Amino acid sequence: MKVHLINPSHVSFGVAVITPRWLYVMAAATPSTFDDPLITDETLDPLDPCRIQRGDVVGIGIHTGNALRGYELGRLARERGAYVIFGGIHATLFPEEALELGGAHVVVKGDGDLIWATVLADCVAGSPQRIYEGGKVEGASLLPARWDLLPKDRYMWASVQTLRGCPKHCSFCSVWRTDGQRPRPRSSDAVIREIVQLRRLGFRFIALADDNFYPVTLQDLALASRRGDMQRFEQLKAIREERFDLMTRLAQLPREMVFYTQITMEAAEDSAFLEAMRNANIKGALVGVESVTQEGLKAVHKNFNLAGEALVNRLQMFRQHGVHVLGSFIFGLPTDRPETFEATVKLAQNAGITFAQFVMLTPFPGTVDFARWETEMAEDKTRIGGIPLTRHWLIPQAIRPKVYTPHPAMSAREIQERTQASWDRFYSLKLVWQRSSCVRSVRARLAFVLISKLYRQMYANTGIATDSARVSRSARWARWIAKPCRRLFLSAPMPDLQLPV
Ligand code: SF4
Repeated sequence: MKVHLINPSHVSFGVAVITPRWLYVMAAATPSTFDDPLITDETLDPLDPCRIQRGDVVGIGIHTGNALRGYELGRLARERGAYVIFGGIHATLFPEEALELGGAHVVVKGDGDLIWATVLADCVAGSPQRIYEGGKVEGASLLPARWDLLPKDRYMWASVQTLRGCPKHCSFCSVWRTDGQRPRPRSSDAVIREIVQLRRLGFRFIALADDNFYPVTLQDLALASRRGDMQRFEQLKAIREERFDLMTRLAQLPREMVFYTQITMEAAEDSAFLEAMRNANIKGALVGVESVTQEGLKAVHKNFNLAGEALVNRLQMFRQHGVHVLGSFIFGLPTDRPETFEATVKLAQNAGITFAQFVMLTPFPGTVDFARWETEMAEDKTRIGGIPLTRHWLIPQAIRPKVYTPHPAMSAREIQERTQASWDRFYSLKLVWQRSSCVRSVRARLAFVLISKLYRQMYANTGIATDSARVSRSARWARWIAKPCRRLFLSAPMPDLQLPV
């Protein structure tokens, strides 16, 4: 009985930016009584079905964006006689759907780190249950990944998780509901061990793939203290100290190592934290800006962000501490107007944001927005390809709409076109070249341009180019520039690198 682990994707680029960590964590969770799992990451290459034999176990991890491809693979694996097991956020939210449409024998809800061995043992015994509850595994029990199984020369960045969970409650995000609001940090020892292993293998760039690397704000501490809730205060303080401890350890690694993470904008007011990030060589952070207006922020329950000039100042704080920002913006909020798009790009440029992504408001399952929308849509009879809009992830890619809720001021087409224009403007050669002044040499500036163009090509999926010819042209172009881009991140392995004391 062989174990297969598959990361589904309907488009493959040959080279990928970040390692899909879950594949290698589940490989670590596979007991040594089995052979090493056979891993397929379809963002690199499509699955070769011939690898799957009768009696094998096929584990497929899905989020909402790749659920449809995952179901296709699940049915295919079942036809070939394998046990099919689904996990991941989407399967956790819709276990019955995976059982019904994905050919699943089993669905694992929650974290798979500890329950996976039981699921495999039950498959060997020929009596797997339909559903297993993996729960929310404590930080100390989260497993390090089996990086020794990584294919050579395919990824630009490796990914290590230092903590799971986010205390916020943004209305468009499911993380705080699925991973919980209580941060579950791993020990800095465990994190550093993985990072050293990755550097030994030749990775110099590491994404700290956390839900929120800054889980305790200065305001959280002040509030607990004002309330006189000393127990809460001490808990928060301990989490904050653990973050600083981790960053001190990161600072002891070779200086050429570069880290990247995701944080909330509140970190900008915490200069001690930003300074520790600088020392740790955390050179980049994805920051959810979402909207540049106060009304927009209110609409997504993100009042803790700032708008207008104050927002520009706050974002500039990151740059002043050597942290490059990948700003994430949402378009299509009810408060957006035609002028919002251009104003957003202008603000992103003025605030010194290094990279940006512009996404269209989509009601994702597991979010507050989705629950409200599903209720509102109860009477809606619209079907696309026979699928109701509230199950949009099941609509084939080519005909899947990109805007789901009627907007008070703009048509769906206008929102799509203006979003696409925002990508085009922000990643125009002129603006990219201006931003490339954040690095010194001409060679580094050219590399910056190449990476910016690749980023735009891989992630600007706003739905204008949904016909298959254009999608495959776009993927070909991305594949073509991905290879030289990867070389920019290469580094000689350091097999003798020791753990910092
Ligand atoms: S969007 Fe970010 S800050 Fe908001 S709940 Fe999700 S992970 Fe937390």
